[in-house]
Amino acid sequence: MDNKLMLMIPGPTPVPENVLLAMAKHPIGHRSGDFSTIMAEVTENLKWLHQTQNDLLILAASGTGAMEAGIINFLSPGDRVLVGCNGKFGERWAEVCDAYGLKTEKITAEWGKPLDPEQFRAALEADTTKTIKAVIITHSETSTGVLNDLATINHYVKAHGEALIIVDTVTSLGAVNIPTDELGLDVVASGSQKGYMIPPGLSFVAVSAKAWQAYATAKLPRFYFDLGKYKKDAAKNTTPFTPAINLIFALQASLQMMKAEGLENIFARHQRLTQATRSAVKAMGLPLLAADENASAAITAVMPDQVDAEKIRSVMKKRFDIVLAGGQDSLKGKIFRIGHLGFVSDRDILAAIASLEATLQELGYENFALGAGVAAAAKVIATL
Ligand SMILES: *Cc1c(COP(=O)(O)O)cnc(C)c1O
Repeated sequence: MDNKLMLMIPGPTPVPENVLLAMAKHPIGHRSGDFSTIMAEVTENLKWLHQTQNDLLILAASGTGAMEAGIINFLSPGDRVLVGCNGKFGERWAEVCDAYGLKTEKITAEWGKPLDPEQFRAALEADTTKTIKAVIITHSETSTGVLNDLATINHYVKAHGEALIIVDTVTSLGAVNIPTDELGLDVVASGSQKGYMIPPGLSFVAVSAKAWQAYATAKLPRFYFDLGKYKKDAAKNTTPFTPAINLIFALQASLQMMKAEGLENIFARHQRLTQATRSAVKAMGLPLLAADENASAAITAVMPDQVDAEKIRSVMKKRFDIVLAGGQDSLKGKIFRIGHLGFVSDRDILAAIASLEATLQELGYENFALGAGVAAAAKVIATL
């Protein structure tokens, strides 16, 4: 049936109708007072979302643009950096660092497992001459549905004293608590098509005072993503280059929705959706890739051993108009991922789980009592 498509991938995520309608206007001039009024509002609300007083800069780019900006503004060629790699997006950080000629040292964990904070502690404590300039990690590793222990790793970075902590929060911001200032996060990168509930095309970088100090001496080349320009113009509530004006209209509407819901409620909802999904998957006898203790609140990766993951995705799409994500790189064909980030409600999860049960039936997988998944999800939703 047309117009019934339900996106349950970890980005782009579903967009609320009022946000779509906010975009359906003529663009206005970005040097106008009207635009500056909107920029002032969205910047303040972005700070609220990030729980920070730091500068909050908006780029016309997808999330990777914010990642690149987070590297080139604060580091110099040959700088030694520790990069956490336990999935595709951790690897992407390392690729960006390599592309700019940094001395990249990877701290790896198997895909599906969290980064081990002890390895960061050991490397940082051994660095008595303070050669490590930054520790760079992905908070929620979207490719595997693993949430890395940002607070503990950051604790060791703070004990080191010199290194910046640079974090990809693309699928954790707006899903779990990230108290930027309380933790002292230096660079926080995110993108619009994830927890923000707006289409792709914007990314965001929060920059601490310590990171600005590093900016003053950083020597990597930069032009379009020179954050100093964005900071200077943000003071006048504008941007150095033409912003994605209609996406800023969307951002204004989505941040208003988020404020109305409240941070605590947003986090609680994502927790409930995650628990309901995981509980249902377990009840259906399907193995989860990530352990409960480090489950991402944005995405649940399932690794079926008796049914083909790609067949599940295909039936879910054809019969139920529900789009699930597949695996990436080494996990291609082995897992499917259920997104529950952003504009997702309890009802969406119930519908997805019921459809998954029907899909499994159709594929001849009968390792569970029909209804067990829905019952497990309903129980979580009724109690959490
Ligand atoms: C989506 C995503 C990104 C950004 O990817 P883009 O395609 O550039 O928007 C970065 N990190 C994580 C963890 C993501 O999920």
